[in-house]
Amino acid sequence: MRTSLGNWPTPLEAAPRLAVRLGLREGDLWIKRDDLIGLGAGGNKVRKLEYTVGAAMAAGADTLVTVGAPQSNHARLTAAAGAKLGLDVVLVFPGKPGASRSGNLTLDTLFGAQVHWAGDVDLQQLVETAQGLVDVLRRRGGRPALIPFGGSDATGARGYEQAGQELLSQLPSVDTAVVALGSGGTMAGLVAALGAERVLGVDTGAMDQPAAAVAAMAGELTTPTGPGQLRIRTDQVGPGYGRLTDSTAAALELAARTEGIALDPVYTGRAMAGLVAAVGDGTIAPGQTTVFWHTGGLAGLFGHAEAVDRFDNALTLFPT
Ligand SMILES: *Cc1c(COP(=O)(O)O)cnc(C)c1O
Repeated sequence: MRTSLGNWPTPLEAAPRLAVRLGLREGDLWIKRDDLIGLGAGGNKVRKLEYTVGAAMAAGADTLVTVGAPQSNHARLTAAAGAKLGLDVVLVFPGKPGASRSGNLTLDTLFGAQVHWAGDVDLQQLVETAQGLVDVLRRRGGRPALIPFGGSDATGARGYEQAGQELLSQLPSVDTAVVALGSGGTMAGLVAALGAERVLGVDTGAMDQPAAAVAAMAGELTTPTGPGQLRIRTDQVGPGYGRLTDSTAAALELAARTEGIALDPVYTGRAMAGLVAAVGDGTIAPGQTTVFWHTGGLAGLFGHAEAVDRFDNALTLFPT
């Protein structure tokens, strides 16, 4: 059961100036603009929510409960989806009040979600905390539905299987789609639609075993897929999830200053750094048709103190 949250298809834009700067031919590079999905400031999580929230509504849910990092784009878009559909939303974050501010958290509040701070917990404990809140809501007579971390299970990944088919209708000749890999549903869906050989995932360090997670979800959608069949770069994880790396900061500037497109420091900036590295080592060569999947995340830039400081401190003054 799918509920409608966006306008499809999203634009596919040529990126000739960026292509040339990367060392590709002018016509080689395209950007799939899932950052322009209308709901809640946009991003890839909307496609997954169409399926996960659709299933929750079909089961009679009145409240959506989900988990993520405090600057989770998935949490922000779950809040927006709940607002649009008239459902209550509870977001469960690690840390304590004040652990993060601005960016996505500001929008979570604006969209009317409630937040529960789970304290010093790992991902598994975070999910257990959310399950506890689901039980509390049930005892109070509610009909809560737990939406998985990042919206990533085989149901959510169907949103990206559909997105892969959408891309094929826009650009049948695509050789490689480059996409950030977080909770894995996005890559899994694209693998189901395009085949493992045409999807290059750039790991962001969000999970311990990303290949296994992607392979499991892709396998549920199509034929059994082994982790070893997947193309995943791990060279952009750096000091870990969410940490700003020099290559990511450089990639943000590159995309911004060649195409006027803003990326984020956690996901799309890393994916762009992975594309730069892939052209550098010959994984992607001139003459191949390449799609950079812009999965959104701009709100996270403003919630990322390190990135905001870095670019604020680099303010260029007009020479007088
Ligand atoms: C969540 C997210 C991703 C990664 O998608 P997954 O399906 O979690 O792997 C990429 N880009 C942005 C902006 C995201 O918010």
